[in-house]
Amino acid sequence: MFNKVLIANRGEIALRILRACREMGITTVAVYSKADRDLKHVLLADESLCIGPPASTDSYLNIPAIISAMEVTDSQAVHPGYGFLAENANFAEQVQKSGFVFIGPDPDVIRLMGDKVSAIAAMKKAGVPTVPGSDGPLPSDPDTCLEIAHRIGLPVIIKAAAGGGGRGMRVVHSEGSLVNSIQVTKAEAQAAFGDGTVYMEKFLQNPRHVEVQIISDGQGNAIHLYDRDCSLQRRHQKVLEEAPAPGIDEAARQKVYAACTNACIEIGYRGAGTFEFLYEDGHFYFIEMNTRIQVEHPVSEMITGVDLIKEQIRVCAGEPLSIKQEDIKINGHAIECRINAEDAKTFMPSPGLVDNFHPPGGLGVRVDSHLYSGYRVPPHYDSMIAKIITHADTRRDSLKRMESALDELVITGIKTNTDLQKELVRDKAFLEGGVNIHYLEKKLGS
Ligand code: ADP
Repeated sequence: MFNKVLIANRGEIALRILRACREMGITTVAVYSKADRDLKHVLLADESLCIGPPASTDSYLNIPAIISAMEVTDSQAVHPGYGFLAENANFAEQVQKSGFVFIGPDPDVIRLMGDKVSAIAAMKKAGVPTVPGSDGPLPSDPDTCLEIAHRIGLPVIIKAAAGGGGRGMRVVHSEGSLVNSIQVTKAEAQAAFGDGTVYMEKFLQNPRHVEVQIISDGQGNAIHLYDRDCSLQRRHQKVLEEAPAPGIDEAARQKVYAACTNACIEIGYRGAGTFEFLYEDGHFYFIEMNTRIQVEHPVSEMITGVDLIKEQIRVCAGEPLSIKQEDIKINGHAIECRINAEDAKTFMPSPGLVDNFHPPGGLGVRVDSHLYSGYRVPPHYDSMIAKIITHADTRRDSLKRMESALDELVITGIKTNTDLQKELVRDKAFLEGGVNIHYLEKKLGS
């Protein structure tokens, strides 16, 4: 096992990683930007190092600065968390070349899954169900593109192979606009991602977002930790997540779990990862894989009792998986509400001084947050400031527990989306379970 791990992230996930390391007896190194001296995990870490100015490009995305920090502190491994460099194959490669361990899969695997065209091809080969589509990049010849669209059936969606964060996608409803839409998406993809490769998929009209959590040791063992429903989204950003996904066809679900774990073994996957699917009319359709730990991982931890970060660190240190599939049973239901520092109406970020922070507590309530009274939320980064997670025997009880937890939560000094979350956990359609990915935006009238 590693003696010392450097945490190349900030906020709640950095604190989450720090806690796992401490429990494992691993010395922690925090790196931070000049705007983040007062972060909770920086104050708690065994060692801490400022790596640059507030802008993430100069600090949390500054590869040479992070590798130098590993050298100076004699760290053995780096945990990238999520966002920033977590899915940057170039970073993973440089970490390895410098003689350190990247806590995540090999750079080649990150690359394979980072390009959506190659990811879909690899998954299809491994037996994972995909969305009917072009099965490869779209050619430049317009007639062939029209033929592909005919075969798939309108509406279709044109997507950038290198796309991410909900950008680089365009829905096409009519044949007449197809060729132009392809050209515009190509140009946008080239400008945004430096890669103009685009592909075509059937546009599913009312799907849910259901994803499968896996962990694999790269030594021939892979397990799944069931699924999560993350359909409540605004602008492709998840707002509330739950595990397990309610009302899923059991046979389809078991089949998709098996396909995901097989795929992990086939591609030599090491670490924690998520297969994201659209789910419609009882069928799963793979859209992409995230080769890292995700924001919503706690709901899977709560229903399985598995500490995903510790297990991730273990397998990336070269240990085989410590758990077997048959040992993981679903226990109850978990909900996660993301609390963001933002205006309730405009959704504009609301950084600033937190006068008072009183987190909720009690049985089955977990709060993953770096907040404390007197902490100043800097304006430079993502606006998520806390995750409230509740766990109970049933979905209904977990939601009731969340209602109570959100009512207890006090954050003053800055604006937050707590009221929206309170509304969502009392929303009639959501309470029934199984709303689709458009539900929240329709509800918000946006
Ligand atoms: P990103 O990497 O940018 O997040 P994804 O491929 O995960 O892109 O897609 C993001 C979102 O776009 C999905 O959650 C879904 O809401 C929508 N989407 C993507 N592909 C399709 C599709 N084939 N049909 C309908 N909606 C889609």
